[in-house]
Amino acid sequence: MPRYNAVIDAIGNTPLIRLAKASELTGCEIYGKAEFMNPGQSVKDRAALFMIRDAEARGLIEPGGTIVEGTAGNTGIGLAMVADALGYRTVIVIPETQSQEKKDALRLWGAQLVEVPAVPYKNPNNYVKLSGRLAERLAGTEAAGAIWANQFDNTANRDGHVVTTAEEIWQQTGGQVDGFICAVGTGGTLAGTAMGLKRHSGHIKIGLADPMGAALYSYYTTGAFESEGSSITEGIGQGRVTANLEGFAPDFAYQIPDQEALPIIFDLIGEEGLCLGGSSGINIAGAIRMAWEMGPGHTIVTVLCDYGNRYQSKLFNPAFLREKNLPVPAWLEREPGFDI
Ligand code: PMP
Repeated sequence: MPRYNAVIDAIGNTPLIRLAKASELTGCEIYGKAEFMNPGQSVKDRAALFMIRDAEARGLIEPGGTIVEGTAGNTGIGLAMVADALGYRTVIVIPETQSQEKKDALRLWGAQLVEVPAVPYKNPNNYVKLSGRLAERLAGTEAAGAIWANQFDNTANRDGHVVTTAEEIWQQTGGQVDGFICAVGTGGTLAGTAMGLKRHSGHIKIGLADPMGAALYSYYTTGAFESEGSSITEGIGQGRVTANLEGFAPDFAYQIPDQEALPIIFDLIGEEGLCLGGSSGINIAGAIRMAWEMGPGHTIVTVLCDYGNRYQSKLFNPAFLREKNLPVPAWLEREPGFDI
């Protein structure tokens, strides 16, 4: 194991874990990149580190400065952790619909939290736009300055995946990788990893796994932004081509309902000991569909974005699942069955 000087040096270099059931079901080798093993416990640590390092390199931020961001949570957690380590402050604007666990983690890492109503991107009071305006205001009042991380349209996010995630996957598979697929929040993970992998081999196929309520499946298959339904997954589901997605197009695109993704998440706990968040379920369901389409014998990699305990109050809460008309796994409600 490596020896590091600081926790931020432990970002990235995550293992690939073989997903046994998905592999056996499809006759492919399906691997998940264990991003929940990052120190901030999600894939977004990579983007956080790269965006802050990029701002430093451009001279946009100095010690004591404030980093402002609109985030569903994980980017904020990554930013707060990196900011703590490097001597910055973080102010996070988050839609109030996001899980309590993520808000708690943000507070734990010392971020100042501004909870706002969840409204669509086109609304001027959308959390992303609010965070941009707040950053502008703080830049004029904070002595050490303030920057807007702007993960959706800041391509330092994508660059982080070009140089780390893609390289790691290439090395870990010894170049024997036929496909990569994941969902999109900002698009940094999908577009960045795709670009990095395609530099190694133009034969590697790239897939988009889109949750219900997002518009990218429709955009990449018909050219029009249309969406239907909704998803309880967090951190994914995009309705526009962000700067991180510019110049990117997937080879395959799938629309994945929660009813398909959630049983995968539930089974992985009992059958393989892997406890993942909802976006990982969308990703694995996408990898299975892509494996069916490509045929047996291929190696496909997807992303295990974060850990299930970040959603214990929702995804693993029978009352919440019932309220959303989603299946409740029997073991969630299991009684001990004995007296003590
Ligand atoms: N899954 C989760 C749980 C996330 O928080 C995010 C980031 N918002 C993603 C997936 C998507 O990653 P990206 O922003 O790189 O598209």
